[in-house]
Amino acid sequence: MTHTVSEALFARAERVIPGGVNSPVRSFRSVGGHPYFVARGEGAYVWDADGNKLLDFVQSYGASILGHADPEVVAAVRSAAGKGTTFGAPTEGEVLLAEAIAHRVPGCEQVRLVSSGTEATMSAIRVARGFTGRNRILKFDGCYHGHSDGLLAGGGSGVATLGLPDSAGVPPGSVADTIVAPYNVVPEIDDQVACVIVEAVAANMGLVAPAEGFLAGLRTACDEAGALLIFDEVITGFRLGEGGAADYSGVQPDLWCFGKVIGGGLPVGAFGGRADVLESLAPLGPVYQAGTLSGNPLATAAGLTVLRMLSAESYAGLAARVASFGDALQQILNDAVIASGVTDAEGRQLTARVPVVGPLLGLFFVPEGAPDVRDYAGAAASAGTGIYARFFRAMLDRGVALAPGPYEVAFPSLAHGGSEFELALSCAAEAIVEAVAVR
Ligand SMILES: *Cc1c(COP(=O)(O)O)cnc(C)c1O
Repeated sequence: MTHTVSEALFARAERVIPGGVNSPVRSFRSVGGHPYFVARGEGAYVWDADGNKLLDFVQSYGASILGHADPEVVAAVRSAAGKGTTFGAPTEGEVLLAEAIAHRVPGCEQVRLVSSGTEATMSAIRVARGFTGRNRILKFDGCYHGHSDGLLAGGGSGVATLGLPDSAGVPPGSVADTIVAPYNVVPEIDDQVACVIVEAVAANMGLVAPAEGFLAGLRTACDEAGALLIFDEVITGFRLGEGGAADYSGVQPDLWCFGKVIGGGLPVGAFGGRADVLESLAPLGPVYQAGTLSGNPLATAAGLTVLRMLSAESYAGLAARVASFGDALQQILNDAVIASGVTDAEGRQLTARVPVVGPLLGLFFVPEGAPDVRDYAGAAASAGTGIYARFFRAMLDRGVALAPGPYEVAFPSLAHGGSEFELALSCAAEAIVEAVAVR
């Protein structure tokens, strides 16, 4: 594989775009090397600017569930583009997409469309605060909810604490009302808390499933405190299944945040939930929220096409394929990791774990006999072994693109079939040996 075109593009990009990228994880900083520039994608594959064909498990971090350039989505976007791309007046597509979401997610009575997941979470928090008249919000360490100031807070270790800014440029005052608690432990919630926001299945610290009783515990704690429960389903919505995490867990939040899948690969987000809560939004209520490109016709056309093409059968089929892929992958990786004798900093033999939830797949390296990763501390310890970064590079050398960071998950799409999973397994068998040999 040659990389000269991507290298040249990256060099040019670094001059005019900070770090050469428009979203930091794309820079490869946490795995080493330079990013490949994508020229085009089709189904499970992308072709980089040098013409290399890569089996793609990134899939825009979950924005494409059908695979790249699905012909029906392309046709819908083409047709919409020909009719004009934005008007500043309502369009039928907005009604159809909002109906499609509300019909599929029980309890999500009303939906407002925005242009990113970040906007969805930021606005859902504002509505929760406006509705309850309270300021405090509670989030969990290791959950990502986009990059609005109040949600860029990191946690202390092991206890719920007032958050500290996670980024320069976020004034302490912006996170002064953000409480950060460890994932998978039901925190104490008092009557100053407007809402609890949670990734119902955490997929931004690797893949961490909610422990038995965690989400139900949050529901009860919120009800007792008069706080709203928000599921950030920007990843899990319309990916775990039609009903998302509420179906998966049997727990219904008050508000939902969506993004990624519902835009069919175009910039979109949505938040929705109980009608009485959503009615606090302008123009009906006192909570302001707006957007020039909200409900954009291209995005609604793409999103609607994707939602119409997904069915209970397609979700079940994808989950089944990923489950058997995950089993096989774990076996292959774990055998190689153990055979290599690789240890963590404390000299404990490491093992590989491949958690799978529905069609989502993670990868952790944890000491032998340790329980499965259940919070950010565990995910950070796994990332700290450095094995993911080397495995990532060894896979990429073999033409398999994983996400360039140890806290991301893999997003097999409906375009990933038997031959793609087989290719990934045979590459993984070689790549892991390389990844654990360099110590
Ligand atoms: C990606 C993501 C967001 C932010 O969405 P953007 O469209 O990148 O702004 C929010 N929450 C979760 C859980 C996400 O994975």
